[in-house]
Amino acid sequence: MSIEVIERHESQVRTYCRHFPALFKRAEGSHVFDSQGRRYLDFLAGAGSLNYGHNNPYLREALIGHLNENGICQSLDLYTTAKADFMEAFFDHILAPRNLADYRLQFVGPTGTNAVEAAFKLARKVTGRHQIVAFTRGFHGVSLGALAASAENGKRRAAGQPLNNVLRAPFEGYFGQKVDTIAIIEKFLDDPNSGWEAPAAFVVEVVQGEGGLETASPGWLQRLAALASRLGSLLIIDEIQTGCGRTGDFFAFEASGIKPDLICVSKSISGFGLPMSLLLIRSEHDQWAPGEHNGTFRGSNLSFVTATAAIRHYWLTGDFIGEVRANAVIVRSGLNEIASRHRGVSVVGRGMMLGLRFSTEGRADAVSRACFEQGLIVETCGPHGNTLKLLPPLTTPEALLEEGIEIIARCTALSESRTELLAGAA
Ligand SMILES: *Cc1c(COP(=O)(O)O)cnc(C)c1O
Repeated sequence: MSIEVIERHESQVRTYCRHFPALFKRAEGSHVFDSQGRRYLDFLAGAGSLNYGHNNPYLREALIGHLNENGICQSLDLYTTAKADFMEAFFDHILAPRNLADYRLQFVGPTGTNAVEAAFKLARKVTGRHQIVAFTRGFHGVSLGALAASAENGKRRAAGQPLNNVLRAPFEGYFGQKVDTIAIIEKFLDDPNSGWEAPAAFVVEVVQGEGGLETASPGWLQRLAALASRLGSLLIIDEIQTGCGRTGDFFAFEASGIKPDLICVSKSISGFGLPMSLLLIRSEHDQWAPGEHNGTFRGSNLSFVTATAAIRHYWLTGDFIGEVRANAVIVRSGLNEIASRHRGVSVVGRGMMLGLRFSTEGRADAVSRACFEQGLIVETCGPHGNTLKLLPPLTTPEALLEEGIEIIARCTALSESRTELLAGAA
């Protein structure tokens, strides 16, 4: 068994495996192991879909129990006990304590982009308008509707057709911290001759996961929410990567106190890495006709089981999120120290969604490659892959966080000489 059979037969479109070309076999907590038994520390964690770590024992036990009892696996959208359990746990322990109990829950196809498609379709139906305002560096998925809102040109070109009905607006800080981008957007939308019309919706990430960990401040989000409300446009918050505790709250928008019209949730919601995606809809916007937006795999029962176990184990008290915040302080201070030792390196992100931004092109990739050689899986994001993005499982013990930061520190130092060599060769 080797990676050659995969490389021979799998489409060229494969991507993460090109950066981390090992043959992985087992995984436990914050570690994955390849077929040779080599151990890797995993700061990629399924691109943020494994917030509770690999094969989390509490979730695994619930899953095995469900399977052993011949629990329902596939049910379309028939009522099941697994779904009822999930909805009860999610409403009682996640939504109600955050004053979000007046949202309806729509299960969509199992991936994040499905939630974004449903959000856009619903916003257009509710408002009778067609434009969506999306932001620079935003990422919302690669199916055509969501891709239209995603900003990365390489992915957009692959559409092979025009991507329509999206207006691109500058995210907070896009022109530097002194330029008020909400004022710019407001100017366009208040001027009947600007060429802009009031949109069906604004779609935004609070921390831009693929775009380079740019963060929107609570004040900026509040003003965006007020603008959307004044214009009769819906505000869609894409919490697909930021959600489920990653930024130090269950939802990244919580600190702003806003009540988005629609919230997209996926990646870590099942907790076990099983596919699951949902759209939260403020109840007055739940204007779907029955069956108007359909799909075979809307809410897998196995995902419901692990999602419920994750909520019951980690979210009934404040202990878990308290640890996440404490760990975030540790990671940030480790990264600050690295940044202080090198020129052209800065710390970006929020909570446990932190990264190192490198001003030299290619350096973040060089660091990522060197880390992999030393047993740490950590990817890059942002324009030209300029940002090393750390997404360790939120359950990672302090000692392993320190171990990962140590490797990043070593590889950042190494890359100083390596990128100079590369620059010399080019
Ligand atoms: C991953 C991601 C998506 C798309 O989810 P898929 O499951 O890959 O379709 C959308 N938005 C954000 C912010 C994401 O991180």
